[in-house]
Amino acid sequence: MPPEVDELSLRIAIIGSGPSGFYAAQTLFRHNEEVRCDLFDRLPTPFGLVRGGVAPDHQKIKRAARAYDKIAAHPRFRWFGNVEIGRDVSVADLLERYDQVVLAIGALSARKLGIPGEDLDGCFSATEFVAWYNGHPDFQDRSFPVDVEDVVVVGVGNVSMDVSRVLACTPEHLAPTDITDAALSALGSMSRKRIHVLGRRGPAQAAYTPKEIHEIDELDGIDVRVRKDEATLDPLSAAWVEAHGERAHHDNIKFAASRTGPREAPDRCEMWLRFCCSPVEVLGDGKVEAVRIEKTEIVEKDGRLRPVGTGRFEVIPAGLVLTAVGYRSVPIPGVPFDDRAGRIPNREGQVMDGDSPVDDLFVVGWAKRGPTGLIGTNRHDSNLTADLMLEVGVKHPAQGPDPIEWLLEVVPDCINWQDWKRIDAAELAAGEAKGKIREKFTDVAQMLAAAQPD
Ligand code: NAP
Repeated sequence: MPPEVDELSLRIAIIGSGPSGFYAAQTLFRHNEEVRCDLFDRLPTPFGLVRGGVAPDHQKIKRAARAYDKIAAHPRFRWFGNVEIGRDVSVADLLERYDQVVLAIGALSARKLGIPGEDLDGCFSATEFVAWYNGHPDFQDRSFPVDVEDVVVVGVGNVSMDVSRVLACTPEHLAPTDITDAALSALGSMSRKRIHVLGRRGPAQAAYTPKEIHEIDELDGIDVRVRKDEATLDPLSAAWVEAHGERAHHDNIKFAASRTGPREAPDRCEMWLRFCCSPVEVLGDGKVEAVRIEKTEIVEKDGRLRPVGTGRFEVIPAGLVLTAVGYRSVPIPGVPFDDRAGRIPNREGQVMDGDSPVDDLFVVGWAKRGPTGLIGTNRHDSNLTADLMLEVGVKHPAQGPDPIEWLLEVVPDCINWQDWKRIDAAELAAGEAKGKIREKFTDVAQMLAAAQPD
């Protein structure tokens, strides 16, 4: 008698069904015909950052999900939604029932600034704001005071650009996207007159890509402005750019210099790109009213250009403060965690406990390398981990039969890919009825109800 399919298989559990989890499955399928991948997600919806992080007006980037749909069609792929690892089942449970386990958990929480007043009402991480307008069920209870004249956004990376754009653009720009109705109507009041975006270093060190700032500049209703003194490079940055600057650095510097003229259209929302401004305190009586910043200058320390305070301060009014200064992964019980770096310690993708590799446990994506790079960066990164997994091989083979029966017993309300497809179809139909790309469910119970067959 021929062996059962499962006896032939190399059983892999992938925790997290965002881009890095899907890319890991794709590489494993390509490089080993016996691999079977089970992807787990704690939400009843897949695609991680593509669904919950990429801005609603960046639908071209969200199209990455089509490639993940193709991976999901592989005969040895299965997906289990509404399963939280660490709560419903443990990593140890999975290591017992699978040959290898991959952590593709991303970086769900925000880095803190660590300054006084950061916990005042009205001061949020951009992570929360992004998740809210993208319909993530965990963030729908937040009440963002968007109906204010002045907003401060801390950080000058691409997340800062996303939230600044969403705050400053017209409702017409967002209306046809998959932004939630609740966010669209809250943002639609357009009371915002100034968005102050704070970079603690100069335009040569701006972390946003030129494409993102040009996109904002081209939108209706936004006037991007830069102070002349802040657009001017300090001598150390000028020398650095001369020696090492890439096209993006030159483009960002040129753009900043081009926005130092007088105001172009008085009726537009101004987006002030501020450089060499480091927030030192969020001010307010019970709720956010302003941000105190210290002007910085650039010094060279340990081979890096760093900001140091000059003792000159300024107070910027703000009814809402969003901090966009990077992400951290959330620790999983039973898995080593590097608290300082906010990610899982690993050697080229194999999880490390001190100096010892953890048998059969691997990591990909932002949890592996930190919150850097675009969606596509994860493909190469997941390839490397998947190759290593096949090279290292299995140390403790899976025990027992196909884990599906065990899983259905311990998490009876977990859902599969077909169930997700029913949620997907319901969201697309609701969106179509409103002239939008999609109207997302923002509540897990609603999602689970929509997942049921008719
Ligand atoms: P990021 O690119 O690392 O930018 C973080 C920003 O926060 C930097 O300007 C950094 O300044 C600043 N910062 C950090 N600590 C600070 C502090 N204590 N005070 C003031 N400023 C501080 O991170 P991100 O914006 O979160 O983006 C994460 C990754 O996702 C990036 O690779 C990004 O390109 C990608 N992404 C891409 C898109 C897109 O393609 N549209 C959209 C969103 C995100 P310093 O440089 O001085 O540290």
